[in-house]
Amino acid sequence: MNCAIVKEWMPHYIDGLLSPEMELSIRLHIESCPDCAEWLEEAKAMSELWSEMDADREQLQAQMDFPDLAADVMTHIEQLETGRRSRATKATNVRRRSAPKTSWIHYGVAACLSLLLLQFGVFENLAYGITEINGHMSNSVTQWFGGFGR
Ligand SMILES: [Zn+2]
Repeated sequence: MNCAIVKEWMPHYIDGLLSPEMELSIRLHIESCPDCAEWLEEAKAMSELWSEMDADREQLQAQMDFPDLAADVMTHIEQLETGRRSRATKATNVRRRSAPKTSWIHYGVAACLSLLLLQFGVFENLAYGITEINGHMSNSVTQWFGGFGR
C-alpha cells in the first residue's frame, strides 16, 4: 500500500465502498502516514460539502417528481381507455431512476475540487508550468481525477 493508491481510493474509503481488507490496509497506511491523514481530513470536509449538494439535488428531484405524480394519475385514468401513455410514462421513469448516483458524486467532487483549487491558485500555477513547490499538489490532483475516470 502506498500513498498514490491510498489517495486514489480515498473517496471510496470515505463512502465505505471498499472491501474490508482494502479498507483495513488503507486505514493502517493513513494511521502511519501524516500526509495521507491530512488528505483524509480534507476529503472528509469535501465529502460533507457534496453530501449537502446531494441533499439539494434530491430536494430538486422531489419537486420535479411532482408534475410527474399528476401525470401518473392522469395516465391511470387514461389507461382505462388506451393504456398507450402508461408505457411512455414508465419508460421516462425508468430512464431517470437508473441514472447512476455516483456520477453526481463525481460531479460534486470535481466541482468542490475546482473551487478549492481556484482558491489556492493551483490552476493559475498549472498554466505557467508546474514548479517544484506545487508539483506534489498537481500530481495529487491528477491522481484524484485519474481515479474518477475509471
Ligand atoms: Zn501516505
